[in-house]
Amino acid sequence: MKAVVFHEFGGLDTLQLEELPDPAPGPGEVLIDVAASALNHLDVDIREGVSRFPVEPPFVLGLEVVGRIAALGEGVEGWQVGDRVMPFLMDHCSECRYCRTGRESLCDSPGFISFSTSGGYAEQLVCSVGHLMRVPEEIPDEAAAALQIAFGTAWHMLFTRGRLGPAETVMVNSVGSGIGSAAVQLAHLAGATVIGNASADEKLERAAELGMDHGINHRTQDVVEEVMRLTDGRGVDLVFEHVGGELFQKGLDSLAKDGRLVICGGHSGEVVPFDIIPFFRSQKSVIGSFVYTRDEVEKCLELARQGKITPVVYEVFPLEQAREAMATMERREHFGKIVLRPRVEAAA
Ligand SMILES: [Zn+2]
Repeated sequence: MKAVVFHEFGGLDTLQLEELPDPAPGPGEVLIDVAASALNHLDVDIREGVSRFPVEPPFVLGLEVVGRIAALGEGVEGWQVGDRVMPFLMDHCSECRYCRTGRESLCDSPGFISFSTSGGYAEQLVCSVGHLMRVPEEIPDEAAAALQIAFGTAWHMLFTRGRLGPAETVMVNSVGSGIGSAAVQLAHLAGATVIGNASADEKLERAAELGMDHGINHRTQDVVEEVMRLTDGRGVDLVFEHVGGELFQKGLDSLAKDGRLVICGGHSGEVVPFDIIPFFRSQKSVIGSFVYTRDEVEKCLELARQGKITPVVYEVFPLEQAREAMATMERREHFGKIVLRPRVEAAA
């Protein structure tokens, strides 16, 4: 099979299209023909060797995969060749105290799909049946590949961690990203008022079509001033933060008293100054969020099947153009997700 491999950490030129031995499923595993595979910023960190995850080259990237089962390993029951599936991102033990209390993303012995097996920048992938989720036929391949991380993360942050209520106001940072555009849709669907920010007016226009009520251009406008103007000086109940750096502090300053900031990323600055005094005097909360549960993804798959949410796909590339696909993502001008199409004959 063809796969995109890197043999040393570094830039785009480390990515090589190679012919690898066809993988074969072991006991309890299935072989998947990969129809679509979505890119994530984490892929860039992994390629550059700065992900803070235990990854060693040679390595095949790709965390979000949709495809059809091509072969069953020994002892696999309940699945057929041809079934349309996506692997759940994370492996978990089902036995530790976190798994037993519905908090699988905190598992004491976790694994990730492209870490413990091989990744989705390839024509085929072997994974354990424990990972598999069914993908409804109504959702196109590219949209299904773009759904899991963006909507799963957004759901976990907004509702499970952030406890967003229908009468509340939320600010979504960087609405042009995959999880930003997902958060706008889910918060709008839940009945919340959605303020969003982005680096360009065109991104704000696209987010408005997805249900954003008010947009702020964080390059040309003062985020905190605009939030206070839009909320009659009160501030927002929840900030959906995944950027880090300046937007983290602006998010804290945009909160109403007793407001919550829920955060899952820090690409623009992982270590930030933090003013303790106004934080505790206004009784604010900062809430960490990591991954999501299978149940949360399945809820989002059902909403997508009903047409209530739409994963936003910016551009689709063949596997041979993985470098161009990553370059497009790294320019950060896109709105929504970038998707590879490794094996078109496995398409829906
Ligand atoms: Zn566990």
